[in-house]
Amino acid sequence: MPEPNFIDKLNAALPTPSREALGALTRAARARSLALYAVGGSVRDLLLERPTQDLDLTLEGDAPTLARDVAAGLPGVRCTVHSAFGTSTLIGDAFRIDVASARAESYERPGALPAVRPGSLRDDLLRRDFTLNAIAVALTGDDAGGLIDPFHGETDLEAGLLRALHEAGFRDDATRILRGARYEARLGFRFEPQTLRWLRRDVRYLETISGPRLRDELLRLLHEPQPERILLRLDELGALAAIHPSLSFGERRAAAFARLRELRDEPPVTASLALLAWELTPSDAAALAARLALTRREAEAVRAAPEAKALLPALSADIPPSRAVDLLSPLPAAAMWALVAAAEGPPADRALRFLRRWRHLKPLLDGHALVALGVPPGPQLGEVLHRLQAAKLDGEVRTRHDEETLARAILSGTAAMKTTPSRSS
Ligand code: ATP
Repeated sequence: MPEPNFIDKLNAALPTPSREALGALTRAARARSLALYAVGGSVRDLLLERPTQDLDLTLEGDAPTLARDVAAGLPGVRCTVHSAFGTSTLIGDAFRIDVASARAESYERPGALPAVRPGSLRDDLLRRDFTLNAIAVALTGDDAGGLIDPFHGETDLEAGLLRALHEAGFRDDATRILRGARYEARLGFRFEPQTLRWLRRDVRYLETISGPRLRDELLRLLHEPQPERILLRLDELGALAAIHPSLSFGERRAAAFARLRELRDEPPVTASLALLAWELTPSDAAALAARLALTRREAEAVRAAPEAKALLPALSADIPPSRAVDLLSPLPAAAMWALVAAAEGPPADRALRFLRRWRHLKPLLDGHALVALGVPPGPQLGEVLHRLQAAKLDGEVRTRHDEETLARAILSGTAAMKTTPSRSS
């Protein structure tokens, strides 16, 4: 039987625009007698017959020059270059192709960014996280179309195993622990036993990873279809505690993640982050947000999680909707979604009603209408509006006429301003 031609398979898996760009890159490399390879996740996914996302190519030569020259001849395709790393990206309307110079890496200390120098394809494969990501398809030369698999990644793929390429892999770059747990869940694979021993031994090196890199990997795993499975595994491996000592994850929270997905097709990642921080104290939540170098919105969601949890007793009490709205309004929506998913009974019902209905409910009278009724512009206007909204939430007013009657009564002092107690009261 003839050997399968992986270039044909790759082309068949790619949408037309990236197939054309790949063809142009391959022709240009061939014309310059440079060896070009497809590598990494796209080759793995091809072998697993899973849809391929972005394509990664490795060139034994100057990748940015090749990429720039090719992009210049492709209408609508841009090229970005990081000369220091020898990497470049072709960006079309609906595709990205990374083209990198083959390189060897060495780590001066755990967690540091590696020192890179030009290397061979083998060097380039050896610096990768797992054997299943260290398989190449030759795109040029006599071997074009064949697999290059010096570390037997295909055998591990067939066996469903995640095997580190060498003993120091997790110590050099502990983000590989998060990546591995992500692949385990996504592909239904498991760590090969020796790899798992190295991982457990070196899990503490997660402490050496910078906040931005940790954040990137964490966000990637939160975007997977079932992040809770990955988080349970990371908890069991001691990886969450290595990220921050206060961080843990159990079955109850896993159920909350699943519930969040039932409520929203694509839960915002800020809601997932708030759920992750659900059990934390306010100071631990703030410390976690700082450790992960979260953006302002993400950090707000994480810091608001303990605040939302602290509202549970008040939200369980027999209170009117207007009181629940006063309690919930200061929270960012992400923390409220976490509350809906993590809590049960009245607090969850009330937060859901707030998100779906109450927060959109406005009085029929606006500021102009109230001024026309004789309410002086200024702080009192806001108070009257708030009072009208509370009355509407609690079913005390229904029509515009009801609202006007109430506004007049407030003005004449015959209707009390409903108190709007602060959260601490
Ligand atoms: P995904 O399907 O999740 O995008 P991917 O395999 O395409 O996964 P990328 O993060 O895009 O992953 O990285 C591309 C390739 O670069 C990987 O397949 C792997 O070979 C290598 N790689 C990425 N990050 C690391 C790392 N931290 N250590 C070693 N190799 C890595």
